[in-house]
Amino acid sequence: MPLHDYRAKRDFTRSPEPKGRDRRPAPRGQPRFFCVQKHLATQLHYDLRLEHDGVLLSWAVPKGPSIDPRDKRFAVHVEDHPIEYGEFEGVIPEGYGAGVVLLWDRGTWEPLDDDVGGGLERGELKFRLDGYKLKGSWALVRTRGMSGGARGTPPGRSWLLLKHRDEWAGPVEIATFAPLSVKSGGDFDDVLAENAPEVWFSGKSPGRRVPPPDALSKILAKVERYKEARDEAKAEEPSPPPARTKSTAAGTKTAEKRARPKTARATASRAGKTRRSKRSS
Ligand code: MN
Repeated sequence: MPLHDYRAKRDFTRSPEPKGRDRRPAPRGQPRFFCVQKHLATQLHYDLRLEHDGVLLSWAVPKGPSIDPRDKRFAVHVEDHPIEYGEFEGVIPEGYGAGVVLLWDRGTWEPLDDDVGGGLERGELKFRLDGYKLKGSWALVRTRGMSGGARGTPPGRSWLLLKHRDEWAGPVEIATFAPLSVKSGGDFDDVLAENAPEVWFSGKSPGRRVPPPDALSKILAKVERYKEARDEAKAEEPSPPPARTKSTAAGTKTAEKRARPKTARATASRAGKTRRSKRSS
């Protein structure tokens, strides 16, 4: 029952999240799906999901992945999610995870050691990502501290997500550099604008209860706070230091951003291969 925990936490008559079906593991050697979903729930976080044995192994990363090898990003190992979840983007009106989900990156991944189950048990997974934003070599390493891990996390659930040094590493805060969806090209406010009417006002799905209006206002307030913080951070961006020459792909992007800070959003759009570059420029 790999999806038991996932289903137990959710009421699918109230959430547009997929229930998912149980499936057999993909044959060996076939590309495995990965994604990162940016999730504005109680706290903003990023959910890294790696396909394995017919489910998506999942870690919630509060600060999001970093392509800077000096950053060790705290990650909480959470319940397996169904494969179908990997394409989900939308509004969770109430209940578990209430808020907005945006598909921040997707692609394929491969483990550097075939024994993924063993790696999970040992608490060390090394892998390569091939997404739109995240690429190259990474590691997830479980931290010690069995007496209830960091920040109130249950024992054994605390991990660190690290980027290895390679041509895809660089001193870039990729989450703010490329903030938008790779699916719709939008940010949380766009996803909310596109999905809220469906969530709140249509009786399309039989049995789906219409959530109370205060659930909507809570989510609107959350998105409003997110937008304020985003715009503040943008206003506080330091003036660009002289562009450094570095031959890595990420380094080139950094130089581009530093040289032309005002186009960062458009550049990020391109990095996400989104359809919004026209609208945002
Ligand atoms: Mn989440």
